[in-house]
Amino acid sequence: MTDAATTNTICPVCGLPIAGDMPPVSVDPQYRGHQHVEDDPGLFRVCCAACARMAALDPKRYRIAAQSNLKAPQSRGDGK
Ligand SMILES: [Zn+2]
Repeated sequence: MTDAATTNTICPVCGLPIAGDMPPVSVDPQYRGHQHVEDDPGLFRVCCAACARMAALDPKRYRIAAQSNLKAPQSRGDGK
């Protein structure tokens, strides 16, 4: 069972602490207009609007990181 909103305190996009007044963002990768997957709401918190936009590009990756309260690994490999 997962809560509707992940209450992470670390931004999964940039790794910075999240201010207490930032609401969770909704970036549901399964949302297809009329079909809403109830048990995968894709809610988590980021530190700023710019990170919210980044999160929307790859919501699944960032949501998983947010659930562990960690910064997500870089999506595009530069080395490593
Ligand atoms: Zn951030």
